[in-house]
Amino acid sequence: MAGDGGGMEGRGWGMATTALHTGRETTPERENSPPLFLTSSFRFESAEQARAIFAGEEEGNLYSRFTNPTVALFEERVAALEGAGHAVATASGMAAITMTFLAYLSAGDHVVISRSVFGSTTNIANSLLKRMGIAVTRVALSDLAAWEAAITPATRLFFLETPANPTLEMVDLAALCRIAHDRGIRVAVDNVLCTPCLQRPLELGADLVVHSATKYMDGQGRVLGGVIAGERKSLMDHVYPLLRNTGSSLSPFNAWVLFKGLETLPLRMERHCDNAERVAFHLAARPELSGRVLYPGLPDHPQRELAVRQMRRFGALVCLDLGSRQRAHRFLDGLRLAIITANLGDCRTLSTHPATTTHAKLTDAERQASGITEGLVRLSIGLEEIGDILADLDEALERSA
Ligand SMILES: *Cc1c(COP(=O)(O)O)cnc(C)c1O
Repeated sequence: MAGDGGGMEGRGWGMATTALHTGRETTPERENSPPLFLTSSFRFESAEQARAIFAGEEEGNLYSRFTNPTVALFEERVAALEGAGHAVATASGMAAITMTFLAYLSAGDHVVISRSVFGSTTNIANSLLKRMGIAVTRVALSDLAAWEAAITPATRLFFLETPANPTLEMVDLAALCRIAHDRGIRVAVDNVLCTPCLQRPLELGADLVVHSATKYMDGQGRVLGGVIAGERKSLMDHVYPLLRNTGSSLSPFNAWVLFKGLETLPLRMERHCDNAERVAFHLAARPELSGRVLYPGLPDHPQRELAVRQMRRFGALVCLDLGSRQRAHRFLDGLRLAIITANLGDCRTLSTHPATTTHAKLTDAERQASGITEGLVRLSIGLEEIGDILADLDEALERSA
């Protein structure tokens, strides 16, 4: 369950303040912005101190694979924002997801995974987990009965993204967590699309939250990073030893970039959502796109009511189905402002054709089951002037017609 004293509740600060002020302690230099400790190891004052720190009798930095103050500050800020007791940073979002599987699953165990998860997560489930003797069942994200029916005596973990990328399908998190907890199963949520600013899964009952910090947390498309947040004891018992020994740790440089990103995350998410709402309503009003624009905030979205209940706003991804791969490609090629890239969560508006890029490695059946049609285009709406974004989309639609 959620935190054993996350910074925000502890101090009563709101999101924007928490993002800026968590970890205010300074070094003897009295710097105002937190420093970058780009050092692989740390000196000991004496052989005795080295012995005591290694023995765990004294707290202190040892070696940056598992203790670095810059990485620790990033972890502390994420934990505070998610309302978690603790967080462990990783080299990328996929490292966070892989570590979660490796930390909480053993040979003979069973995991239930949403059918609509990030492409590499599906690839890990299909290859690494099976090779390690971990049974995997994939279910439709929003189908609570399917999750329940998939449970076996060996089930240890539920893993999902909500909303899912790129279909924006959602699951009732509180209801799913009740099903899991009745059977002693942990729930891990990939919260990349929402960030803690829009959705806090631990408050809804989830045990673990994983992030690709590469996306909105950086927000400026610079570095890779990941993080796992949850209860301190659980992370220290299961995740930290694995990370310490396997070394999929976050670089201090990336941690520094990422916590500077966190400082403006609440502000950026508001603008991302403002712009995305405008884009969704604008596109949905075009007669030829009627019923073809996916956005949880649109009145015709079948799960709008759930989104209102468990998310603070509707997010910044808008998807549209242009009917065919040819038209989708022509539309992307017709964009002058929005950039074609596989990324999302950048301050610039990005466009992707999932079926031929991020989800190309899935089988046709998997793509179909995940709702990724040939005409589907994913837009990650950025922070530009809204008029410029709308004009670019309109012109690309005209050009691709
Ligand atoms: C990008 C992404 C990941 C993987 O993160 P990396 O930092 O690229 O390893 C996982 N889940 C979601 C939802 C993502 O968008």
